[in-house]
This record gives sequence, structure tokens and C-alpha cells, in this order.
Amino acid sequence: SRRLAHQLRAQAALTRDGHRVEVAANIGQVAEVPAAVEAGAEGVGLFRTEFLFLQRTSAPDEDEQYAAYREAARALGGRPLIIRTLDIGGDKPLPYLGVGPEANPFLGVRGLRFCLSNRELFASQLRAIARAAVDAPIRVMFPMVATLEEWREARALWEEAARPFPAARHVEVGLMIEVPSAVLLVRHLAAEAHFFSLGTNDLTQYLFAAERGNEQLAHLSDALHPALLQMVARVTEEAHAQGRWVGICGELAGEALAVPLLVGLGVNELSMSVPSIAAVKQALRACHLGECRALVRQALACGSAAEVRRLLAGEAFEGI
Ligand code: PEP
Ligand code: MG
Repeated sequence: SRRLAHQLRAQAALTRDGHRVEVAANIGQVAEVPAAVEAGAEGVGLFRTEFLFLQRTSAPDEDEQYAAYREAARALGGRPLIIRTLDIGGDKPLPYLGVGPEANPFLGVRGLRFCLSNRELFASQLRAIARAAVDAPIRVMFPMVATLEEWREARALWEEAARPFPAARHVEVGLMIEVPSAVLLVRHLAAEAHFFSLGTNDLTQYLFAAERGNEQLAHLSDALHPALLQMVARVTEEAHAQGRWVGICGELAGEALAVPLLVGLGVNELSMSVPSIAAVKQALRACHLGECRALVRQALACGSAAEVRRLLAGEAFEGI
């Protein structure tokens, strides 16, 4: 039965009616990959590359980054690896790169904004990714995109960095949806991007204007709020209409209680911290797509996160 448990862990998670949702891992270090695979991750949906830059006194150069991305891909043994470009600033200051001080770091020069104003550094990361992608299923993802112009600028810089590596032309380029403006621009973005991943941690923070991690505001930071769920619905509808897939890599993706809703909303991939993988796969296998869609209609009609949570708890109870 231990072997059975291992097989179940490794297998793709299908709902009772055969609908597949991919389960991937969020990592910050290459060394986390083996444990992610052992836990049943079908790939890495979010490699937070800023951790390669933290706790040191200078930025890793192109070769050092290339070695890290290549090793992560190797350890994944052919499973996909989504590399998110440097998401520095906000709660992750980097003294040696001269970020801040700012009055409102979360509204400041963070994520892609920082990279677009530090071209050399950004180019070296993009080149390292392109080199590693030559013989591995690597995808690139930009954080904190707020406008179409930012997306286009980032994609053009990627294309420039990848030009010397024709074998990297297969690389899918996508972006995180974590700023409300990106939700409202999703139709335009979907015409140009291969995929989206919803960063529900930041999207919740910016939607409710409530700093993430501020305990006094925890009651305003529930991603299961119908206001946020409407954003997820909008993104999946517009993305699917143009043949793009949608993942979630915020903490919401690892919440087993939320799984029926995320399935019903049409989310194609859930990426989470490693300890959540087994429970989320189990929750997926208990789902039925048709039932999940009906549940979504009810959840979207709720007026508060508490109401959504009561609805989901009731479902779980009836399921027993
Ligand atoms: C998010 O914002 O939801 C996300 C996944 O990115 P991070 O937590 O690294 O900001
Ligand atoms: Mg984020």
C-alpha cells in the first residue's frame, strides 16, 4: 500500500469525470526540486529567481544563473519549468542593487518595473534563461505586469536575448496576473502571451488595498472573496477564448478547500508549495467538473469571503 500511495502521488490528478488539472510546485531554490518531484509535482509552476539574488553582496552573473536554471531543469527530468524573472522590491529589497528606500515599496519600483530600469541585469538573466532553454522545457514568466506596454517591452527584450539561440524559439512566454489592471487588459494580453499565472497573493493585496503580511489587515486578505473570484473567472474566460492556459501560483492554489472552485473556474494548473501537493491532488480527484461549475455560480453570487467559505465547508460536509 506504500507503493500504491507512491503511485497515486506521482500520477496526474483527474477529476471523477476525467478533467485534468496540472499540479506544480513553487520553489525558491534549485535544491527544492527533488522533494517537489517526490511529492508528486508535475513540474515547477513558479521558480522565484530572486532567491538566487538574496543574502549575498552582488548579483549572480549570467553563467551562475545559467548553471542554476540548467540544474533545476535537469532535476525535473523533462517536466516543465516556469522561470519567473527577478521579482525584487516590495517585501524583498536588495541593498546592493540600490532598490529604495521608497515610501510605498509595494507600489514602487518592484518586479518587472525594476528589471525594465536595470536593463543590463535583466538582459543577463534573460540570456541565462535562453541558454538553459535550448534543451529543456523551460518557460519564461514576467511578474508585476501592469500595462500592455510593459509586457511588450519585456517580451521584446526576451526575444533579443534569445536571438542567438534558435533552439530557444520554442519557449513559451507568459506573465503573472497580479495587478488588477492586468485583469482588465487580459483580452489584449491573451492575444500576445502564451499563458497566464494568477499571483493571488499580490492580486488580493492590490484589489483590497491591504498590505499582504500586515496581520491587522488579515481580514481583508482572503483570496476566496467573490471580488477576487470574479477576476479569476474573467481571466480564464478571456484566456481560453484565445486558446491560452491559466495557472494560479499564489497561496490560493494550495488551499484544498478552494480546489472545487478553481476547477469550476476552469483553471488549468495549480502551483503551490511542496507540502500542499498531496492534499490538492486528493481534492482534485474528489471533484466533478459539472458540479464544480454549479458551485462557481453560487460562489460568484456571494457577497463576502465568509459566505464563500461557508458554501465550501457545506459542500465538504455533504461530500462526507
Ligand atoms: C503572488 O503574488 O501571488 C505570487 C505568487 O508571487 P509572490 O508571492 O512571489 O509575490
Ligand atoms: Mg507576487
